[in-house]
Amino acid sequence: MLMFSVTFDLETDMEKVIGFFDDNEKIFSPYMIRYGRVAEFGTNYYDNQDLKNNILNNSFGKLYDKFYDALSDNKESNVTLALKSLYSTMYPLDYKQKFVGNDYKEICVPGSKMAVSPDENIYICEKVNQAYPIGTLDKGFCLEKINSLIGKFVNIINNNCATCNVSRLCDMCYAQMICDSDLCFSKTACESACLALKKSLISFYSLLEKNEKMVKKILNPKII
Ligand code: SF4
Ligand code: SF4
Repeated sequence: MLMFSVTFDLETDMEKVIGFFDDNEKIFSPYMIRYGRVAEFGTNYYDNQDLKNNILNNSFGKLYDKFYDALSDNKESNVTLALKSLYSTMYPLDYKQKFVGNDYKEICVPGSKMAVSPDENIYICEKVNQAYPIGTLDKGFCLEKINSLIGKFVNIINNNCATCNVSRLCDMCYAQMICDSDLCFSKTACESACLALKKSLISFYSLLEKNEKMVKKILNPKII
């Protein structure tokens, strides 16, 4: 089975992306798609992109209408695999473990994946900025650094997220916390996560109200 990993930013026309997969469904089949946005923290990647009137939001709006119409008409065949995969990505409703206390949330253990820079430093992943290498190609992983990162991460979430209503849905991870060779809680990233989750829940429950049976069949969410 083919697995596509689609990365997008604010200038991506998601309608065109979905259209591309729909047009080539027979060639690609069987296949899966995962979507992920270019990480927004610790980077100047978005400096020249329009945050408000972005192409991405407009195309998401049109796709949402398409999904909503399919639910209204009870036409499952109008929800293609590409569209279904997009909505499965957008609604993080699987029942995740609350990540305060002794639990280590459902994020990666640094070193289970890696990104390597041209200067041969190893980083947790491609979404993490280059302020905190966890090893080098020459010497391999630095286990002390990895242990220290995990300890700091657990402390940070215990101190900041213990009473949060959406901690089971929040995807905050190292990618939003690495700063100046250390790990810090980013209030901006937290507020952004809260806002995104609020919007996501509003749109998801609107779809459920429209056609609960079909949404559950298509997206198979474990609703909390
Ligand atoms: S740092 Fe975050 S985005 Fe990167 S692999 Fe780990 S959990 Fe995923
Ligand atoms: S939204 Fe903020 S407070 Fe809540 S779990 Fe995520 S980072 Fe923590």
